[in-house]
Amino acid sequence: MTSVDAGRIEPMSQTPMSETPDAGTSAAPMALAMAQARAAALRGEVPVGAVVVRDGKVLASAGNRTLELKDPSAHAEMLAIRMACQEIGSERLIDCDLYVTLEPCPMCAAAISFARLRRLYFAAYDPKGGAVENGVRLYSSPTCHHQPEVYGGLSESEAAALLRDFFKERR
Ligand SMILES: [Zn+2]
Repeated sequence: MTSVDAGRIEPMSQTPMSETPDAGTSAAPMALAMAQARAAALRGEVPVGAVVVRDGKVLASAGNRTLELKDPSAHAEMLAIRMACQEIGSERLIDCDLYVTLEPCPMCAAAISFARLRRLYFAAYDPKGGAVENGVRLYSSPTCHHQPEVYGGLSESEAAALLRDFFKERR
């Protein structure tokens, strides 16, 4: 874990996870993604968090930092994917899974495909901005050449409540 981890919540990233990250045992990485989302909210960022896992180990975790970095591409998924690629020294995250608290937008859905991530687990559905089960449904497009396995709705109510509270406070 190198200097690119600036955005990581250190104690959480050290959490040992012994279980295989399959559809049945995905609670721990999603809990870490949720912690990153809460940390993002405290920074005034839209509360979304993402975690990349391989063989039950967390390679990277990040929250939204678009305001802080003045970068519209600094979504949690993008940051976590970049960190994980640095971590394993490859532009492809073969056999890696991504956990994110909100259905990915078109940019992040495309990056997940380019990174060849194996599975995508997301919490809240996003009818307004999502690109997986909503909007362009990117992975159903014939021009999308790698489709991850998708599992939506994990810890959905917790992630949705976090987003709702965040936007309520800002109004
Ligand atoms: Zn995004």
